[in-house]
Amino acid sequence: MVNSRTKAAQRVDESKVLKRLLLDHFDGAVLVDLDTDEIIPIYDSCTGRMVPYIDSLNTSYSYNMGRVMQNLEKKVQSSVRDKVALDVVRNSLDTQKTYSVRIHFIDDESSSLYKKLCYEYYDDQKDLVILTCEDISETVASETDPLTDLYNSAGFHRRVMEWIENNPEKKFRIQRYDIDHFRNINGVYGYSVGNRVLRDFGRFMKMYNSGDCFAAHLNADHFARFCPEGSPPPEYYSEACHEAFKSYELSIPLTIHMGIYDLCEPGCDSFDMSYKALLALQSAKGKHDRSFVYYQKGTMEAEIEQQELLNDVDRAIRDDEFEVWFQPQINYRTGELLGAEALTRWRHSQKGLLSPVSFIPILENSNRIGEIDKHIIEKACRYIRKWMDMMPDRPIIVSGNLSRSYVHNPDFVQNLRNIVECNDVPIGNIRFEITESAYMDRPEQLIEVVKEMRSEGFVIEMDDFGSAYSSLNMLKDIEIDILKLDMKFLAGENTRRSEIIISSVIRMAKELGLKVIAEGVETRQQADMLLDFGCEIMQGYYFSKPVPADEYEKLLQSPPIFK
Ligand code: C2E
Ligand code: CA
Ligand code: CA
Repeated sequence: MVNSRTKAAQRVDESKVLKRLLLDHFDGAVLVDLDTDEIIPIYDSCTGRMVPYIDSLNTSYSYNMGRVMQNLEKKVQSSVRDKVALDVVRNSLDTQKTYSVRIHFIDDESSSLYKKLCYEYYDDQKDLVILTCEDISETVASETDPLTDLYNSAGFHRRVMEWIENNPEKKFRIQRYDIDHFRNINGVYGYSVGNRVLRDFGRFMKMYNSGDCFAAHLNADHFARFCPEGSPPPEYYSEACHEAFKSYELSIPLTIHMGIYDLCEPGCDSFDMSYKALLALQSAKGKHDRSFVYYQKGTMEAEIEQQELLNDVDRAIRDDEFEVWFQPQINYRTGELLGAEALTRWRHSQKGLLSPVSFIPILENSNRIGEIDKHIIEKACRYIRKWMDMMPDRPIIVSGNLSRSYVHNPDFVQNLRNIVECNDVPIGNIRFEITESAYMDRPEQLIEVVKEMRSEGFVIEMDDFGSAYSSLNMLKDIEIDILKLDMKFLAGENTRRSEIIISSVIRMAKELGLKVIAEGVETRQQADMLLDFGCEIMQGYYFSKPVPADEYEKLLQSPPIFK
């Protein structure tokens, strides 16, 4: 190393370089004798910028710290004095390797200076402490949110990780806050009022800071609080917020929702934990009965799994992993097989056969469901064509499910027409099931779409009748052909009340000129009852579960067996 030095470099004194590096951040270091309360300056260059703070005639630690306190704002003096008292230092060093106190100085030009005093035992004898002073003004500026003067995200995570490292055995909690309807507050009152709300909320958060319990403004209207073991429960903070803002001068009430992470999983960093609190927060949003929700173990894993599924959709379509299965629909009076509902299954290359309940809701939430609907309908049409060619005398009727996002796509009807024409399927052989969620979304648009579909000749079924609250509205406003009555909504015993409801729905449908298909029929008793009430067409496990296409093909080829 030395041999390769240039001539100029040979005169370098490494200790000088080191000192310069240290002095950039460190004001210096001294030793403190815990038994005598004396400051022992080490050699001058090491004491560095701390020299002016030490009275050369009186080297008592308490006395000199008292002089330092005079440079602090009045209101924080006594709390800082408590933190730097030697018995507090000693107690803290019993449980952690280093103990630090942050001090905010206002210097002569009233600019802010932040210093960190850090205490650490000199050796195992534990009678001497090394006290260093570090200038952390730049770090503090980069870790502070200027609007609220709370920690920003970087500061929050740094402080959380530091606390966990110093308190490996202790429990803690991370609370994430989201201000309800903040977008509306910005929209109605403008950004400057929005900022004022954030500042006021920040002030509220700061009021509950104490010791190691600290708050942060992470971004937009998201705040967080770190609560070490022994802090009050979330109810306390949530009620405090309600109290503080109940008469806030806005016409939009200022309320919050909170997501809480308290599992303290080893190896989980502050970002992960804060994200988990956010997941809990997202599940709390929109709930009127609860203002906070705890993160449940496994939620993040489920979330990641869902994201993986979403990322996989394009590949799965390319690799033809979505299958169409068919659930027979029977005329229970004659035993005749009338048709089937097409239901999708995902034969995932790694995860195996997935039921639609495990992926349809995810695809619905991310607006990818329309592609799957289209893909499944195309496949169903190909089967219809194939079976019509194979069995020209058999009626081949299949109904496909349509999701609301597909129905509301502007090209939707044209799309369906193309699929049907390309596969040469007569319009009466494919039917479509629509649920009322499509109606609740945009009723006027659905009314128009259904009108257009029926004028093309498509048969429309209303799926899951009775399972949500606007079934009757949808029935009133939209002309459909078939009503699918879901037996699930009357789960349990066939009580007298269920019978009255079912018989009345069947009678009403008849009076409206609609056919009824009862689905979810599981027992003979249910089938007999439905037939008594005049409903002949049924679908359900009592007859058959959904089956793969080749099995359904065999059913079509055999004589009617359902009797
Ligand atoms: P759905 O349209 O109400 O379909 C009926 C569901 O009930 C099917 O579940 C079927 O297997 C199940 N089922 C049938 N008979 C019985 C019974 O007797 N008892 C019980 N307990 N259940 C019965 P599956 O196949 O798991 O499909 C679930 C849901 O996924 C469907 O409910 C539908 O909403 C959706 N789905 C399936 N395929 C597609 C699709 O291609 N596109 C869209 N948008 N949704 C689909
Ligand atoms: Ca359906
Ligand atoms: Ca259904």
